[in-house]
This record gives sequence, structure tokens and C-alpha cells, in this order.
Amino acid sequence: MKIKDILAKGLPSVSFEIFPPRSDSPFEPMKEAVERLARQRPSFMSVTYGASGNAQANTVEVASFVQKCGVPALAHLTCIAATKDNIDKEVAALRGAGIENVLCLRGDIPKGTEGQAQGPFQHAVDLVRALRPAGFCLGGACYPECHPDCAHMEDDILHLCEKVEAGLDFVTTQMFFDNNIFYRYLSKLRDRGVTVPVIAGIMPVTNGKQIARICRLSGTYLPSRFKAIVDRYGDRPPAMLDAGVAYATEQIVDLFANGVNAVHVYTMNRPEVAERIMANLRSILSNDDR
Ligand code: FAD
Repeated sequence: MKIKDILAKGLPSVSFEIFPPRSDSPFEPMKEAVERLARQRPSFMSVTYGASGNAQANTVEVASFVQKCGVPALAHLTCIAATKDNIDKEVAALRGAGIENVLCLRGDIPKGTEGQAQGPFQHAVDLVRALRPAGFCLGGACYPECHPDCAHMEDDILHLCEKVEAGLDFVTTQMFFDNNIFYRYLSKLRDRGVTVPVIAGIMPVTNGKQIARICRLSGTYLPSRFKAIVDRYGDRPPAMLDAGVAYATEQIVDLFANGVNAVHVYTMNRPEVAERIMANLRSILSNDDR
């Protein structure tokens, strides 16, 4: 099923993310994680495309397994280091596996090659243009706090508009921990004429130390309320898990309450996190009491 059709229903939807194992790692733990995640009945599951050559090969296989578990899959695809031939092969593999949804990404520029020519796909928009004729439902990434390579938010939004005009059906945001940042960003996108669904990306934080590093790299703002949680519970994994699930749940409830229906949870192959969040949302996501 195409994600744009799922989103068009206008009902609250929660999707999950999984990353494929490296080629030298066993598939079984990932399969168990997908099966458990699928039992939570997410609206779709996205499968990342590894930054290193190793895990890339497994994206289509994992996406295919997701669909065997009865959940529509969204396969990520990056283009920065790709040739036209590489992309043609990926398209053939995705089609062969019956994948209908692709998240078109540039990928991070390999370290040490910044400012150098990068091949035929300089930006994600080039991938969108290449994939549009293939008939996939296409998504792209967007950044409520500006992409780190871009000096000005206004320019980043113009680049996003170009990507959407090239044929995106929806966009998914980078994680954020302050919903007001998302609401302001969404309003700016709507003012610029972006009408496609914007899926809010929520990261349940279960590892305090890791998140500080990730946020430094991605420029994500950590509200003081959130920092206090990490400072207090960051060294106690079970407590951090409780607090991270509670914080993410609160963000999601607030988004739904404010009319944002599509939420993507960066579940990072942790089904127990997804299970706890979905348990917290059970009545909110149920149609029975409407
Ligand atoms: P682009 O849209 O190309 O934007 C990259 C930068 O270039 C931005 O600063 C933008 O403003 C600028 N830009 C765009 N177009 C132009 C133009 N025409 N002229 C000048 N500048 C321009 N990475 C992975 O390796 N694998 C994954 O599976 C993966 N999944 C992700 C999922 C989500 C939801 C998100 C938010 C990110 C994901 N990433 C993933 C990370 C992503 O690859 C990086 O953030 C990357 O640096 C940018 O990718 P993009 O598709 O946003 O690039």
C-alpha cells in the first residue's frame, strides 16, 4: 500500500523505523524485532539505508520481510555516492520485491570529500527526479531546526520546496524534542505552499549519553526539561527507558491533540520501546470509542 493513501485517511497514524543488520551480522534478531514491531500494527515501517556499503545491500531484503509481516514498507535510499547504474539497479530490486514506497535521501557527504564533485546525484532532489517516473510513492527528509549543511533556514526551506515540487508525496522530519519548534516549522512550510503531509519524527531517548552526541551533530535543541531528565536518569538505563518513553508519549499526545496526525517513531530496532509507547496510546489510536 502507498503511504500517501494511508495518510490521506486523515486518522492518527504511527510508523516505526528499523535499520538492517550489516552483511556480517545474523538476520534473526532483526526478524524477531520486525515481527514484534509488526504486532503493534504501525501504519508502515521504514528501513534505513546504511551509510556504509555493508548494510545497504540489506535494505530491500528487510523491507521485503516487513511486508511479509503484513506492514507496508518504506525503503530509504541515499544517492550521494551513487552512479546512475547503481540507482537503476536499486529501482529494479525495489520493484522486484514489491516495495511501493521510497524515502529519497542525499545521505551525508563522505568525510574529507566536502566541496568536491559528488557524481550525478548532488542532492536528494536529483534522486526524486530520477525515481518519479518509476511510479513509487516518494518521501523525503526535512529539518525543523535547519539541515546542518545549510546556513539559513529560509534557504533550507526553499530547497525543500524544490524537492517537493519535483514529486514528493510526503516528508518526514528529523527528530525534535520541543514540539513548538515543529509547529513553527510546519506553519512556515504551509506559508511557502508546501501542502504534502509532514510526518513528525519522534525519537524516544533511551540512552542519555548517545543523545547528547547525536544532538550536537544534528543541531537538535535539547529543552532544559529534557536535559534535566537525561542528567538525572542518563546513567540508569531502566530509569532512562521509563523517562524516554514518557517524554516521547507526551510529545505524541500533544501532536495528535494539535491536529498533527502522522508520527514516525525512531524505534531503532527496540520493539520494547515501541510496545510501551503504543500501550500508552491505545485508546487514542482506537477508533472504537469515536
Ligand atoms: P538534501 O535534501 O539534498 O539536502 C541536503 C543539504 O543540501 C541541505 O542543507 C539542503 O538545504 C541543501 N540543498 C538541497 N538542495 C540544494 C540545492 N539545489 N542547492 C544547494 N543546496 C541544496 N541517512 C542515511 O545515510 N540513511 C538513511 O536511511 C537516512 N534516513 C533518514 C531519514 C530521515 C527522516 C532524515 C531526516 C534523515 C535521514 N538520513 C539518512 C540522513 C540524511 O541522509 C542526511 O541528513 C543528509 O545529510 C541530507 O539528506 P537529505 O535527503 O535531507 O538531503
